[in-house]
Amino acid sequence: MVVNMSHRRTLRFSKTTCPICGSKEVARDNNKGDMLCTNCGHIIVREDTKSVGKFEIAQTLKREGKMSFEKLKQSTGSSDAQLYNVVQNMSSMGLLQDIMGTYSLTKKGQRWYRQRLGQEWGY
Ligand SMILES: [Zn+2]
Repeated sequence: MVVNMSHRRTLRFSKTTCPICGSKEVARDNNKGDMLCTNCGHIIVREDTKSVGKFEIAQTLKREGKMSFEKLKQSTGSSDAQLYNVVQNMSSMGLLQDIMGTYSLTKKGQRWYRQRLGQEWGY
């Protein structure tokens, strides 16, 4: 498997209209298919079910320190399959470590979270 270590953001504009502000400047985030309104910052989730994103998981882990899969699931309200996908994705990016079934952020993950937190969408 090829992992892009530079993790460069690739934003592509989609044809979606933001349901909050009506802007057409909605960018598709890489990997997961979530979309971000670059006008108001609203995150548009493709799935109908409650979706969990990498950022939400990072935020939860940052707050809690470490969590089991089960707790993470309760806290984010996502489905097994979906949480599993995101967790796998984050692990492969080196953002998460899994020690005996307990997840926590790696140093890289904490850096990634801070970057995301301070980032303004749309550039
Ligand atoms: Zn918007």
